[in-house]
Amino acid sequence: MTMDNCLFCKIVRGEIPSQKVFEDDLVLAFHDIHPLRPMHLLVIPKVHITSLAEVSAADEPVLGRMLAVAQQLASKNGSTDGFRVIINTGRIGGQEVPHLHAHIVGGPEPVGPMFTRN
Ligand code: AMP
Ligand code: ZN
Repeated sequence: MTMDNCLFCKIVRGEIPSQKVFEDDLVLAFHDIHPLRPMHLLVIPKVHITSLAEVSAADEPVLGRMLAVAQQLASKNGSTDGFRVIINTGRIGGQEVPHLHAHIVGGPEPVGPMFTRN
């Protein structure tokens, strides 16, 4: 399933350019347009899945692939000593783009605390 007006579906279809770093049958990975760390990649399913709150058992292969690809891309893109995966989900999770995506962040230095206390 694809969504006509979904930003990341448009990136999958090549209608909006991206700095692609990896693509296979299930997932696409590209540089975040506003990197928050020296390495900041996004890994997305090629099919439209709105968020982690919307997945079903049928999505398990693509979810597994997203994490496996994250591990490979982190070391290839300058984060050889660990990295962080973040999946913002829905309103509470602060998700801005409603197409499932994993942020892969890292670099030569630790990325810092997960979040600050309120
Ligand atoms: P989230 O808040 O988890 O939904 O994150 C959405 C992310 O998508 C943000 O980090 C944005 O910088 C990133 N983003 C938005 N538009 C683009 C784009 N055209 N290409 C690459 N990254 C994008
Ligand atoms: Zn989409």
